[in-house]
Amino acid sequence: MPPTATLEDIKAHQERVEKDKITPDNLPPCPRCLVESVFFKIHAYRERRFLIIIEMLIKAAYCTLVRFGCPGCGKTFTHYPDFAIPHKHYTLPSIMGFSERYADSDDRTYQQSVMIDGSVPGYPQADATLSPSTVHRWITTVGQLHRTCRTALSLVLEENPATSICRDLARLLVAYRKYKTEHRRKQLLGCRQLVIIERAFLSIFKKSIFTKLATRCAFG
Ligand SMILES: [Zn+2]
Repeated sequence: MPPTATLEDIKAHQERVEKDKITPDNLPPCPRCLVESVFFKIHAYRERRFLIIIEMLIKAAYCTLVRFGCPGCGKTFTHYPDFAIPHKHYTLPSIMGFSERYADSDDRTYQQSVMIDGSVPGYPQADATLSPSTVHRWITTVGQLHRTCRTALSLVLEENPATSICRDLARLLVAYRKYKTEHRRKQLLGCRQLVIIERAFLSIFKKSIFTKLATRCAFG
């Protein structure tokens, strides 16, 4: 099965929006006037299209995202549900899952990383499939969540100082055939680090870095 959020995940978020359960308290303070996010007010509701994979077909699913506004200066901030990251239509399990498939293997190509049991998830009405270049872009995004990784790592170390995570991270390498530039090597390494930190975070705190912590770190 390809990694993906489910229709149920998206419906559950929609229900929380409709029952006014979405709160701004995990958003970072306003960067302009430093007002704490608990004081943010609902600014707007926006419908967003997400892409989920159902039986190897890429399908659109819609739900509402809440935007909050800073009462001090009017700057607005989007609240993201756990399955979403900013500016991406595919859901977090797909983004992380396919990125990890590529980054964690020494020889898998981008083309091979989109294949599940010999086929590639496709769009129902178009003669198109999940593109290998999409996975390339996802790695660019998840490989640059440095602040999120640092914050999560320090929480893990605080909670369990005896953990071997720093050794595990120091041992990580990226196969030389996977990059042409130092910049790309760092993104691939960042992606692999995120996978390890997320795993440790999940096992200690029984919850994911996504999306409360990532939100607080402004997805940086
Ligand atoms: Zn403000």
